[in-house]
Amino acid sequence: MEFEVTGALMQSYTICKRQVWLMAHQLVPDQEHPYIEIGRLIDENSYQRDRKKIHFENVVLDLVRIEKDNILIGEVKKSSKAAESAKMQLLFYLYKLKQSGISAKGQLFFPEERKREIVELTPELEDKIIEAINEIKEIALHELPPAFLKIPYCKNCGYKEFCMS
Ligand code: SF4
Repeated sequence: MEFEVTGALMQSYTICKRQVWLMAHQLVPDQEHPYIEIGRLIDENSYQRDRKKIHFENVVLDLVRIEKDNILIGEVKKSSKAAESAKMQLLFYLYKLKQSGISAKGQLFFPEERKREIVELTPELEDKIIEAINEIKEIALHELPPAFLKIPYCKNCGYKEFCMS
């Protein structure tokens, strides 16, 4: 099976391997879930002025800014609590851009906290991304999802009803 890893899968990878499997097998999370809704609203209302959305292969980049010769890609996130998974997602985008010959830097935006974080694809982080891509592919190939293991993130997860019923 030829399987395309997406930025969303990369983000899930740092949170929950079961979520990776569910997402890869296209069990769509509850669209009405408040956290998903908040994420969507912030996405629509913040950084309106310099907002652009580009589609890149199977990836949608939330924001692109070109400052001098630098290409900056941005991701708007509702909270820095999930900074690690947001960072992996952005690194994945940077990796995909590099594969296409585009060298870029990334910035994470946390508008509610007025915080920004620069994200750069160093050789070490690139290795980490390649490793994660391979592991995501491996998880997705399994016939069944990894067993349900309750974690703090579950209460914010769109698959909560599915996992806990
Ligand atoms: S509810 Fe919990 S175990 Fe289930 S997919 Fe979400 S984070 Fe993973």
